[in-house]
Amino acid sequence: MPGLEEQIKEVAKKSGADLVGVAGPGRFNGPPSIDPTYILRGAKSIVSVATGFNANAIYDFLGKVSPYPHNIDEAVCYQKGYRAATAVADYLKSKGYKAKVVEPNAVYRRALDPFATRPTFSHRFGAVISGLGTFGLSGNVVTKEFGASIMLDTVVTNAVLASDPVRPANETMEKRCYNCKLCEKTCTMGMFRDDELEYLLINGELHSRGKRNNLDFCNAPCFGLHGISRDKKWTNWGQFWIKGWMDGSPDPEQREKVRSTFMKVGGRAGDSHQRFMAIIKMARNLYPKELTEDFFPSYENLPKDVESQKQLAIQYYKNLGVELKDPCLVTCAQCVQVCGPDFEETKKRYDLLVNSGYIVPYANWDHIHVNTYEEAAALKAKYPRRVSAADMIKDQQGQGVYWMKNFFGFEPIEEFKNLLYQRKAKAACARAGLAGKEAKAPIIVSPGYLMGLAGGSRKKKKREAPIKLTGV
Ligand code: SF4
Ligand code: SF4
Repeated sequence: MPGLEEQIKEVAKKSGADLVGVAGPGRFNGPPSIDPTYILRGAKSIVSVATGFNANAIYDFLGKVSPYPHNIDEAVCYQKGYRAATAVADYLKSKGYKAKVVEPNAVYRRALDPFATRPTFSHRFGAVISGLGTFGLSGNVVTKEFGASIMLDTVVTNAVLASDPVRPANETMEKRCYNCKLCEKTCTMGMFRDDELEYLLINGELHSRGKRNNLDFCNAPCFGLHGISRDKKWTNWGQFWIKGWMDGSPDPEQREKVRSTFMKVGGRAGDSHQRFMAIIKMARNLYPKELTEDFFPSYENLPKDVESQKQLAIQYYKNLGVELKDPCLVTCAQCVQVCGPDFEETKKRYDLLVNSGYIVPYANWDHIHVNTYEEAAALKAKYPRRVSAADMIKDQQGQGVYWMKNFFGFEPIEEFKNLLYQRKAKAACARAGLAGKEAKAPIIVSPGYLMGLAGGSRKKKKREAPIKLTGV
């Protein structure tokens, strides 16, 4: 009879997971979001579940053929992974254990900076300590089977499970990233660096990744708010280009300025809140299979014309209760999609992205593909996003209220644990001759900014409020 760990893996794989790993007691020493007891009191182990993205859908996305096959694939993977994790949790419960699924995305700890997006439990950390892969330059978990092109889920349980072997701490960085670095070139803002590393301390080992310049360099493109490459030679599927950022990314240390710039653009988009709600719906709820995985045909059987694919996606979100004019929710994440199982595949994907020109807005909230920057700029000027003032205000308030209500706050015990972790990581880096290289995630704490986010202040600021920086 196979042991509990083997049975768990069988359940997960039968329910749609591609990769499954287990981490038991002794594996949870690191940043606060590696602590499973935050999710479930008395938790002793976790099960990490990965579902791989469809490579053909990625080619269509990066090559600017159509964004919908990959958007559909992500929507399916959200539910497939969630379903596999839920099957594991149900199985553990049937054996008398407690178990809880960590929602796939958009569940954050409360912070004074609600855009800090600190996960309740980090699926990435879970995957690393369960042996599924190691961090790559981008900070994503890179697996042998799919590269970084995966969706992760986690189950937390009070069962004492035997851990799977972990991969050597810097395996991906040493074996692949130093000779690749392609993901850094795909990031429209340069969120992370390819010439400087930062380190996370996990279970006594230092794990490296590219130093993060500013998390908002990721938040802006992920909301579709800055979709043009730094050399202006290609775009992703984002609809906006931020004027002041066209001739080079802004100073990453000017955190409040960066934040307020992209929030102004987001505030004028008119659909930011609806788009975020659609992500919340699929990432935080598990729906019947016929509404989700079975709703869409397989990649091979998807309609070939882009408009039919779009209508399918619109109908999917409508079934979940969200009306979207533009159902292209994934606009960025090239750092994930480009990273395949080996360099050859990664280079192929990279070439598709950088050699396929531009996507720009068109009439009726649509997109159009063009080959030159001049054409792209002309069409952007011709088809600016037009949103009524009422819709704009409604969207801004919806978004502001949601983020304040769900992610704003202060968790003193967790902040204290974070301080302790920071001290340990700092000391470990110093001992290893890497003084000052520990990963930090500064947050913005500014009363004016918070009031603006809550929709309470529309006054122009006379001068920038001071920024307070705290740790991860
Ligand atoms: S794309 Fe290349 S550099 Fe980036 S994480 Fe993958 S292997 Fe590493
Ligand atoms: S998701 Fe987009 S913006 Fe964020 S790091 Fe990846 S490529 Fe850069």
